[in-house]
Amino acid sequence: MKTKGKKKDKVNIVTLGCAKNLVDSEVLLTQLRGNKINTTHESAGDDSNIVIINTCGFIESAKQESIDTILQYAEAKAEGKVDRLYVTGCLSQRYRDDLKTELPGVDAWFGTMELPLLLKKFNANYKHELLGERITTTAKHYAYLKIAEGCDRPCSFCAIPLMRGKHVSKPIEELVRETESLVRNGTREVLLIAQDSTYYGLDIYGKRKLAELLDRLADIEGLEWLRLHYAFPTGFPEDILDVMANRPNICKYLDIPLQHGSSRMLEIMRRGTTREKTESLLGRIRNKIPDIAIRTTLIAGHPGETEEDFREMIDFVEQSRFERLGIFTYSHEENTHSYTLGDTVPEELKEERANLVMELQESISEDMNNDKVGKTYKVLIDRLESGNFIGRTEHDSPEVDNEVIIDANSNHLRIGNFSNIKITHSTAFDLYGRTA
Ligand code: SF4
Repeated sequence: MKTKGKKKDKVNIVTLGCAKNLVDSEVLLTQLRGNKINTTHESAGDDSNIVIINTCGFIESAKQESIDTILQYAEAKAEGKVDRLYVTGCLSQRYRDDLKTELPGVDAWFGTMELPLLLKKFNANYKHELLGERITTTAKHYAYLKIAEGCDRPCSFCAIPLMRGKHVSKPIEELVRETESLVRNGTREVLLIAQDSTYYGLDIYGKRKLAELLDRLADIEGLEWLRLHYAFPTGFPEDILDVMANRPNICKYLDIPLQHGSSRMLEIMRRGTTREKTESLLGRIRNKIPDIAIRTTLIAGHPGETEEDFREMIDFVEQSRFERLGIFTYSHEENTHSYTLGDTVPEELKEERANLVMELQESISEDMNNDKVGKTYKVLIDRLESGNFIGRTEHDSPEVDNEVIIDANSNHLRIGNFSNIKITHSTAFDLYGRTA
């Protein structure tokens, strides 16, 4: 049934989940537009008669958000506002057989590796000539670069390998071309992402090649900041630390999810490391790059976690003093090893433990931000909001870390530009400043 009064097809891509999913949506956007199909991303308007939802299937809350979004557009379709509804991404990859019957309003379901099939629904072909050319949906001055797909790690709680498959690195030459294209289009900061970025190269080159990749990308003229996310502690390629220390345009920033601080829990989680090994690695990283900001992610309430294990996590966070930290409550995901252990920690206790860790982190972050008052930092201006310019230092990644807030009435700055900002005051998670 053709929606009333709509002349030409217009597609709206809706992205849920992580930055890796966002890159997939950007590739889809690029391919559809490359096939002359009128396509937009996250359009607030209602002028699109075809909707593609790129879903997340990581943990319970993310799955629920994906299902709610599908139901929302299925309802719009039932009301005649949408003609076609397609679902792709991790939730579809993992549950499409069940969802097909439960959510009949969807016209077709696609897995995480089925872009050509999705394009076929538009009589479109995958355009190889567009490889490395990507329309980004982030602010013009920063972009994510997915250096690999999938993961070979056995982490017991994680469903990602079920949805994304085995680790597959993209060749260095392809990533260099893609980054050159991003920089030509105005990108000044590139964020390297993968499920496990430190595994980079082991599959296609037979050895870890992240250090070489960082070096090659840092050579690209006009690339001001290169930021590394999703490092893995076990088998950490320490040669990257020399590259990070010696290349001024590589941010002194490392995102390394560690998941827990108790060796007993790290063993149950099948992380292949211990608290002692992790702490000595963190020590070597800080020795090589003294002003580095380390971001980590932890899980509270994993099956088997005792009060003693939790006390050890608290002690680990106190001792390690991470610059940036996030924590999830354990999500009981079927077909993972942890699922066989039973969901032993009550939900409220998971929440309580996660909140206690964040309270501790808030006081650590407050101290650290306080030490920054009076100092001047190179800040990338991201946006203008409620009369303030909002920016970030090299120690802050978009959307997850601290921000620098600058009064726009008394400071004349440009979005997408770097400016030297003197910090005047701070809170636990934000800095305030003025042009230096
Ligand atoms: S490294 Fe572990 S937690 Fe991360 S995606 Fe792979 S299996 Fe999941």
